[in-house]
Amino acid sequence: MSEAWSHIRVLGRVRPLLQHELATNEKAIVSALAQDSLSVFYNEQMQKYKFHRCFGESVDQDDLFEQSGVKEMIDMALTGFRASCFAYGQTGSGKTYTMFGDETKGTGKVGLIPRSLRYLFDVLPPDGSVSVRMSFIELYNEQVFDLLNSNRTNLKIRWTKDEGYFAENAFVVACDTVADAMEVLTEGRHNRQVGSHDLNRDSSRSHALLSVFVEQLDPTHECAVSTGRVTFVDLAGSERLRDTNSDGVTVTEAQSINKSLFALGAVISALSTAARKGRAPKNVPYRDSKLTKLLMDCLSGTAIGMLLACVSPAERFAEESTRTLEYALRAQ
Ligand code: ADP
Ligand code: MG
Repeated sequence: MSEAWSHIRVLGRVRPLLQHELATNEKAIVSALAQDSLSVFYNEQMQKYKFHRCFGESVDQDDLFEQSGVKEMIDMALTGFRASCFAYGQTGSGKTYTMFGDETKGTGKVGLIPRSLRYLFDVLPPDGSVSVRMSFIELYNEQVFDLLNSNRTNLKIRWTKDEGYFAENAFVVACDTVADAMEVLTEGRHNRQVGSHDLNRDSSRSHALLSVFVEQLDPTHECAVSTGRVTFVDLAGSERLRDTNSDGVTVTEAQSINKSLFALGAVISALSTAARKGRAPKNVPYRDSKLTKLLMDCLSGTAIGMLLACVSPAERFAEESTRTLEYALRAQ
């Protein structure tokens, strides 16, 4: 795999105060100052965070999709490039809302992933020269599960020269139409819910990785000449987790989340530092966690990455929001 430098785009999004927060007169202390900055007003001080692009509480799902640059990622995947898009932030900050949407809040609330799939199928050439396949896996406690298989077994991570790291035996489902793709999405989200319910744990402690493979086929339509890929990741909540005594979080859960988010931050930061200096990255610690192994293909070489830092505006989460924004700053 050639190791040309890649580039990372960091975005910030602050959600509105929720109904129950408004009802308890929660104060909003994070807001979008301008198109490229967020401000946090806390302890009588105003801190400003500058990112590639920022989205305030009034930015709806449609504007976010149009302005985030996700469409460009899909366009690039269609020409054989790889890309990744992460939602980072504490539990309740709006990661799942941003990535998948919240259908309980209405049809206009669908998130980046379903919008991206719709866009992809809209721009797909009608001659069948491109095929789309999807996989959907979950990483929990350094274990890998296939969200497209209701039979939950811990999958092994394997490496081959051609494919890089991948979850062995995870389904990669062919999608001929946008309806097929939406079905895959629904199935995976359903299994994530059921899994967390049955095993009595919180899905906010797992990472969900949805990959869309876009294959350009040769004129016979029998083999792929290039494969582009976009992986969307709804990361586990980044909040500081204590031990079992607090809220049922086990020490291993806390450790594995910290480890993978730390490794991801280190990888992204190594890539952006190299890109800023205009040289190829060296010693990127992809192998430090399962998360970064599985994402290596979508971060290394000519791949492009997008980190969406999600924050709550509520004053009582000021410290977590600050931590999220600091993490995002280090990534860019
Ligand atoms: P996370 O996945 O980070 O734990 P969620 O995406 O579940 O957080 O969001 C928590 C709650 O806030 C949900 O009820 C969600 O619908 C709501 N929410 C998040 N972001 C927004 C937004 N931008 N606009 C409106 N509601 C939002
Ligand atoms: Mg979530």
